[in-house]
Amino acid sequence: MRKTLVVAGGGAAGFFCAVTAARLNPQLKVILVEKTGKLLSKVKVSGGGRCNVTHACFSIPDMVRKYPRGARFVKKTFHQFFTTDTIQWFEERKLHLKTEEDGRMFPQSNSSQSVIDCLLQEANQYQVEIRLHHEIKNIDYPTESNSFTLHFSNELRLNADFICLACGGYPKSSMFEWILQSGHSIEEPVPSLFTFNMPGHSINSLMGVSVPDVQVKIAGESLKERGPLLITHWGISGPAILKLSAWGARLLKEKEYRFEIRVNWLGDRSDQSVRDEMLMTRESSGGKKIRQKNSFGLPQRLWEWLLEQAGIKDIHWADLPAALQNKLIQLITNQSFPVEGKTTFKEEFVTAGGIRLSEINHHTMESRIRPGLYFAGELLDVDAVTGGFNFQHAWTSGFIAGKSIAEKTF
Ligand SMILES: Cc1cc2nc3c(=O)[nH]c(=O)nc-3n(C[C@H](O)[C@H](O)[C@H](O)COP(=O)(O)OP(=O)(O)OC[C@H]3O[C@@H](n4cnc5c(N)ncnc54)[C@H](O)[C@@H]3O)c2cc1C
Repeated sequence: MRKTLVVAGGGAAGFFCAVTAARLNPQLKVILVEKTGKLLSKVKVSGGGRCNVTHACFSIPDMVRKYPRGARFVKKTFHQFFTTDTIQWFEERKLHLKTEEDGRMFPQSNSSQSVIDCLLQEANQYQVEIRLHHEIKNIDYPTESNSFTLHFSNELRLNADFICLACGGYPKSSMFEWILQSGHSIEEPVPSLFTFNMPGHSINSLMGVSVPDVQVKIAGESLKERGPLLITHWGISGPAILKLSAWGARLLKEKEYRFEIRVNWLGDRSDQSVRDEMLMTRESSGGKKIRQKNSFGLPQRLWEWLLEQAGIKDIHWADLPAALQNKLIQLITNQSFPVEGKTTFKEEFVTAGGIRLSEINHHTMESRIRPGLYFAGELLDVDAVTGGFNFQHAWTSGFIAGKSIAEKTF
């Protein structure tokens, strides 16, 4: 008798599971069910419509540092299917990737549609049956030798010997209820990858200014990050802030997104090194106006704003009083800002939390609680910072689940 696999979710992880299982075991009947009328919708919009497929990182230890949750898990799964395998998989199907300066990898076509076309063509080639508008509401689990029964919101049912749940990140705990009936448990979902709101703050007048290397810290906590920072009309954003939001996803939720951050506008430069440089500037360019001689390479608008905050008027370097100099140094290396709220980063939003990893066998992605039930993608308690790392986890976990199911059914 032909065995049936039902994959739930027409996203990156679900597709990778379905096409891998169907290719590796032609005897297996593979059905992919998707609750909406659209397939691969996140692939379509990701990376500004270009799809940031993966990241040019070829060391597992370096790669796992990008995962605030699930690092230990992906460290093991990446040994089975890594970035190199993703690149090769797409290359073998004539989809060539290119690497941007920051390591993000995109299709050479610059269009996410080529990724979608490639996955659809693979599904077609290996006869994956796709059913849209099929939202799973409930699953009956096998007792003894019978199979799973899936119940859909459209009143239809399907029987399956294997199920892979790849339903993406659910933002609310209540959305997991139908899965929890399996006996699995979840880490509470919370948003990750958001920007910080500072309503009414005068820095917002610098909207559009970006600073290439800033260090940001959450006051009173050990969390800190470095990287570019962008000032927006509602607060601050940019890679340094997004990374901080990912690492602090749970902590910042507990603080109800009200906290104080400290910014060093010059990366990790110390007070002393800034003081020494000011001394040198006073000696070499004492006759120059402070406003015009910005020796730290900060964007001019930011520099003028910092001088204003320090109460420094239109004076020369040689005339800078010690007290104002101290104030300026403190603002440059340790400026404090009150954060009041967050804004979801629409470019690449993910949910932290999901199915508990201790309940999943990382060799196979099979449930340790319900044999025959598999999981893949963002539904698991794995999430990463921006840069293609979330998709890599989707490809990896989908591939492992598909391969394990294919091997089990020979
Ligand atoms: C706007 C945006 C841009 C992004 N850009 C990037 C990027 O550039 N790089 C990167 O690495 N990551 C990016 N991400 C994150 C990345 O898209 C996700 O981590 C990834 O798509 C997760 O894949 P998945 O298959 O697990 O889930 P999804 O892609 O979310 O797919 C899950 C599917 O399951 C379906 N589903 C849900 N419940 C049911 C049910 N009960 N029955 C049947 N079907 C169901 C959903 O409708 C959905 O189609 C972005 C995310 C967003 C929102």
